[in-house]
Amino acid sequence: MKILVTNDDGIHAPGLLSLAEALRKVGEVAVVAPDRERSAVGHALTLHHPLRALQMGPDIFAVDGTPTDCVNLGIHNLLSFKPDIVVSGINRGANLGDDVTYSGTVAAAMEATLMGIPAFAVSLVTQGMGTHYDSAAEFAARLTRQIHERGLPSDTFLNVNVPDLPFLDLLPSSITSQGRRRYEGNIVGKLDPRGQKYYWIGSAELSFLDLEGTDFHAVSRGHVSITPLHLDLTNYTSFQVLRDWGLE
Ligand code: MN
Repeated sequence: MKILVTNDDGIHAPGLLSLAEALRKVGEVAVVAPDRERSAVGHALTLHHPLRALQMGPDIFAVDGTPTDCVNLGIHNLLSFKPDIVVSGINRGANLGDDVTYSGTVAAAMEATLMGIPAFAVSLVTQGMGTHYDSAAEFAARLTRQIHERGLPSDTFLNVNVPDLPFLDLLPSSITSQGRRRYEGNIVGKLDPRGQKYYWIGSAELSFLDLEGTDFHAVSRGHVSITPLHLDLTNYTSFQVLRDWGLE
């Protein structure tokens, strides 16, 4: 099995190193990752400046672009093989609920899915630097093997969040739905040394509605959360409401 590993925390992030190491026991691993942290860039694609890829080893590249750029360059230009699966992570910090739309980690898996390659994103649920990347890596390695054997439902990729616990303390995984963030004001407005106002969007606390069946509900109780995502954002249940407006 040939595996492409990427992330949004950058090529030197401990989560990426831990993930690549665990996946080398499962298959042939290539790494194409941003050369620096690009968290919260979402599904951004770089169009207005050239991209450089620095080769750091056999099938290891650091790209001065986004996670989505990395998946594109990796698959179309850099790698000596086409991957059977793309694994993105291990992100430092959870990617739960509505936050998946900001996540570069999740977007990399999304990009692979657009290319028809099975993919998942994996994140460690931590507010700090994170301790048990090895747990998430072991889980990711097992999941990679399963996906390789079974395949994924079409147009579907997985968003996996792993509590920051020793592997043997992780509770069984739950298949979950995307939860809802509780929005709280976390933007600080202050004056800079020149007396000009600035604003800084704060590091968001893990504050989610504790709804049963959601990703947040699972990880906050020590379970690994696996949320199947797809790219069709259409809200089919609203069709009738809008048709009743007489727009058509
Ligand atoms: Mn990140």
